[in-house]
Amino acid sequence: VFVCLEGGEGSGKSTQARLLADRLTAEGYAVRLTHEPGDTAVGKELRRIVLSPETGRLAHRTEALLYAADKAEHVETLVLPALERGEVVVTDRYVDSTLAYQGAGRDLDPAELEAVARWATGDLRPHLTVVLDLEPAHGLGRFEERDRIEGESLDFHQRVRQAFLDLAAADPDHYLVLDARAPVEEIAGLIAGRVAPLLEQ
Ligand code: C5P
Repeated sequence: VFVCLEGGEGSGKSTQARLLADRLTAEGYAVRLTHEPGDTAVGKELRRIVLSPETGRLAHRTEALLYAADKAEHVETLVLPALERGEVVVTDRYVDSTLAYQGAGRDLDPAELEAVARWATGDLRPHLTVVLDLEPAHGLGRFEERDRIEGESLDFHQRVRQAFLDLAAADPDHYLVLDARAPVEEIAGLIAGRVAPLLEQ
């Protein structure tokens, strides 16, 4: 079973990914908690390049291809082997982050970008994507110290948020959208409730 957590800055998705992984582990499942970008050796290098303030502005296509390379490595060397071993894989960000940040956030053609991302991942799709929805001004307040994020406009983050909501609305069977302002434990319970039936299949 492959579960993905998505959301904007400060939405708490990393916390929820960890809580879900901990809960499933406690229930006796073998769980692999992972994240994008940067959870493989080459991914760490790619993350450093793409997110380091020293890199400065990358061409949008360069940025998109670096994220795609991270995904290719992540899926082939980490996600797929774990799934093949029967583990539950919980990832903090996946293809939807690319569609939202490099697609809606930047000026890249969404269809072209999606084709690249699907190619990079061999079209591996999560059984469930949880979107932790948050008004960007609210989330960004928690990250004032982070240069690169400050560098993006509020409008950029509004487009990112809307992209996640649009992806979810187009495919409700595979998405769960939650208000990220709800109490942490309440959100964790709702996610676990939606994941439970997937584990029985
Ligand atoms: O989730 P995490 O905080 O590790 O993500 C780091 C940053 O990478 C995010 O703030 C986001 O701006 C950026 N990112 C991106 N495009 C992606 C994935 C992440 O711009 N496809």
